[in-house]
Amino acid sequence: MTTTTRSQCPVCGESLIREEVGTWIKLRCPACGYEQEAHWVPSPEELGLVRDDVDVEVTAVWKSGRPSVAEVQALRKVVPDLANESVNVLKERVSKGERFSLGKMKRPAAKRLREKAEQLGLTLEYEEPAQ
Ligand SMILES: [Zn+2]
Repeated sequence: MTTTTRSQCPVCGESLIREEVGTWIKLRCPACGYEQEAHWVPSPEELGLVRDDVDVEVTAVWKSGRPSVAEVQALRKVVPDLANESVNVLKERVSKGERFSLGKMKRPAAKRLREKAEQLGLTLEYEEPAQ
């Protein structure tokens, strides 16, 4: 198949309609019904499979510069190691800076943790290791 974005129907010359379903691309002619299908192989980047074994450093970032009670509670929920700490003790402990390091973990784990934290109103960031 061609790499042009605007493909013409080889039968009637009408512009083909491009439909993508997952990794399938179907070019369909609205005039005569001609169809062409192609399969593309996503790159590792597109699949999110690149260097997933690397460790990234995860930090909690306080929205106001100081941890709120809600953020500390969210932190306890997403980090099992902190679940047993009282909110007050933990708040005191994490109040020393604008961010609090959760340590290093594999990128997929960091991503899942960030999504979970976001639902609870807590902002997590992770840094890619320097190359
Ligand atoms: Zn056609």
